[in-house]
Amino acid sequence: MHRLREMLARGHFPHAMILAGGTGSGKYTLALMLTKAMNCLEWAMSDGLPDFCGKCSNCTRISLAEDLNARFAEAVEARENLRDTDKRETRIFVQTHPDVLVIPPDPPQMMIKVDQVRRVIEGIHYRPGEARERVYIFTDSNFMKEAANSLLKVLEEPPQFTTIFLLTENVGELLPTIRSRAMTFTLGALQSEDIEQDLAAQHPEWTAKQRALVARLSEGAVGRARAFDLAKYTASRAHALTILTSVLRTGDHSELFKVTETYRPGAEGREKTDQLLRGLYSLLQDMMLLSSGAPELVRNTDILGELQKLVAAIDFEWISNAANRLAEVERGMRRNLLRSLSLDALAVGMERS
Ligand SMILES: [Zn+2]
Repeated sequence: MHRLREMLARGHFPHAMILAGGTGSGKYTLALMLTKAMNCLEWAMSDGLPDFCGKCSNCTRISLAEDLNARFAEAVEARENLRDTDKRETRIFVQTHPDVLVIPPDPPQMMIKVDQVRRVIEGIHYRPGEARERVYIFTDSNFMKEAANSLLKVLEEPPQFTTIFLLTENVGELLPTIRSRAMTFTLGALQSEDIEQDLAAQHPEWTAKQRALVARLSEGAVGRARAFDLAKYTASRAHALTILTSVLRTGDHSELFKVTETYRPGAEGREKTDQLLRGLYSLLQDMMLLSSGAPELVRNTDILGELQKLVAAIDFEWISNAANRLAEVERGMRRNLLRSLSLDALAVGMERS
């Protein structure tokens, strides 16, 4: 982001930029942040570089496009309500600002279609009305052939006052001729601190501890962090913690059985059990990190004290044996052994290990 903002400051921002990165890497978020920085009416700055205020009429309207899934669903629903003849000719767009057009893949094929690129071409030579820069964001690189060729023509002679963002998970999906006319920027995993900051805005109801937890568990993927089901995770992790504590306090199994009792076969039980196993893995991994003296890498930071207590009672070997037992139970579950039975077996097995 810093480098891109430097480009903005120097007026060296390319007319076409490919933002490459995996699902949840923040490509779309970054494209919108840059769009706001280009067009903020307050000319907001931070660290001497262009930024956005988030409050002016350009920033707020552009921000309305942030929830892409919701805006996309609205556009699809609007099309569904059209007469059949209009339906066929209508393409899906997301537009919350007159000078910023978001182009998602068009259902049902979920591809960028030539009519969508045509709409881009129709408006692209006009000066922006309310923004300084007219922005087009293609959210996917799955172009139909004719659409890709049309886009190529645009890129051959990019108009002034225009920035086109092409978002892709795999740069190789784009025509080499398109790639050579655009600048590619690959997004690495975001830092935990950046995700925490994003979550502060997205989930103000979460505490700082919870935000730190989700940021670490999401491993740099901002999309995953935003959609994280914290309540579900915390519930499963509490069960996982009970199992581990009970195993380590040999003799008293009443708490353990109370927990395993709630895991019943069936589709719902299956999902719940998967969550529990993920919770167990996550705790065991953190215990390994603590045991090998790397507390800064622990992800379940909000229960660090409890984890340290557990680790004090055992050694590294025990944890790695427990992880092996867990893998065995998981394999057993895939073969559809009774879930609650397997969980009890797991606990007893851990005791022996
Ligand atoms: Zn602004």
